[in-house]
Amino acid sequence: MKKYDYIVCGGGCAGLSLLIQIIDNQFFKSKRIAFIETNHRAHLHKTWCFWQEKPVFYSSIINYQWDNLIFKNDQFEKKLAIDPYSYFQIQSKAFYEFAYSKIQKSQNIDLIEDTILSIDNQSNKAIVNTTKESYEADFAFNSTLLLTNKNEMNTSNSLLQHFKGIEILIEEPVFNPTEATFMDFSVPQNLGAAFVYVLPTANNKALIEYTFFTKKLLHQHEYDTLLNNYIKEKLKIQKYTILQSEYGIIPMTDFIFPAYKNRIINIGTAGGAVKASSGFAFNNIQKQVTKIVLLLSQNKLPQIKRTFTDKKFHFYDAVLLEVIATNKYPADKVFAMIFKKSKPQLVLKFLNNETNIFEDLKIMSSVPTKIFLPVAIKKLIAAWR
Ligand SMILES: Cc1cc2nc3c(=O)[nH]c(=O)nc-3n(C[C@H](O)[C@H](O)[C@H](O)COP(=O)(O)OP(=O)(O)OC[C@H]3O[C@@H](n4cnc5c(N)ncnc54)[C@H](O)[C@@H]3O)c2cc1C
Repeated sequence: MKKYDYIVCGGGCAGLSLLIQIIDNQFFKSKRIAFIETNHRAHLHKTWCFWQEKPVFYSSIINYQWDNLIFKNDQFEKKLAIDPYSYFQIQSKAFYEFAYSKIQKSQNIDLIEDTILSIDNQSNKAIVNTTKESYEADFAFNSTLLLTNKNEMNTSNSLLQHFKGIEILIEEPVFNPTEATFMDFSVPQNLGAAFVYVLPTANNKALIEYTFFTKKLLHQHEYDTLLNNYIKEKLKIQKYTILQSEYGIIPMTDFIFPAYKNRIINIGTAGGAVKASSGFAFNNIQKQVTKIVLLLSQNKLPQIKRTFTDKKFHFYDAVLLEVIATNKYPADKVFAMIFKKSKPQLVLKFLNNETNIFEDLKIMSSVPTKIFLPVAIKKLIAAWR
């Protein structure tokens, strides 16, 4: 059995974010760390966007940023000046290269390419078994879904956020690269909640992403047709070259992901970092690993307890998920009402789980009480029992 202080299980966004912070912190220089990933080279292309006040983390690898966003549905359009926030974009390739260059220079991290078969607790140690070896450590930081109960994740109100995005290059300078379309709901809603992001990074280059919040996935060719129709009919672009594409499925569920089990600390999607009502996770992952690193560096157990704020936002997300999943009110109208009646900064703060109760009430007053209140009461009674 090989012994370490920590084992980082999985090298996606969460595992790498944790390792970056560990490497940058003097406290961990004497710690022995195993970093186990099934394939250190085969990463899917992802574009991560998030909003933050400046200064931003990972500033050296930000691909692009916008200070103005656009929200649209078929009846309403609003340009949102979001200062002091900016909307940032990072390409996963740049992030992986940044993380791996730091990891490879670190003397105390062993890069292990292997598939993890099990992660367990044994006498106050975490035990990780892979296809080739067994490892023991004080803590295992787990971002694999090996310990996630997939049946429990599929609650009656859970949805899938599924999307396909293409980065296109065009001949004419059509785009305004100072504005990103955050959500364009003015597309058919017959298959369920659907919207498009348009993220221009030059006047002739943009990422167009067609996104659904539904229970069923589409076939790849259906996303392609929808993207093509959107580009031709809405953006009035007839000729374009596809530079790269991405596809994703993100769980939107009111299941409570356990943050830890004794010496196993769950991070990323496995640790509940995906916001159930929006699918955004990048910012939450950074907050989560920052808390873990702080606790470790203070010689405390890195077990993040659920706070009142966590429970509050989980409750809001669960209510919104039920309203959308059971078709009580269309998602495009909910978001339109919120963006119409509140300042964009407040909406973004709310979507980042950072508002106080008075700010929450302001946001909530923009949605129809007769739809949301009965769902909220039902959830509160269920939680009480
Ligand atoms: C295409 C795409 C675009 C997205 N865009 C955004 C966005 O714009 N903004 C945002 O906030 N969020 C976005 N997300 C959501 C979120 O940020 C990601 O899902 C995030 O990457 C989750 O990180 P993670 O580390 O939890 O999981 P992953 O990145 O999936 O990492 C898990 C890692 O564990 C490894 N692994 C799994 N099982 C084993 C095993 N048995 N043994 C060894 N290794 C194993 C995998 O190979 C993988 O590297 C996007 C997601 C996708 C898919």
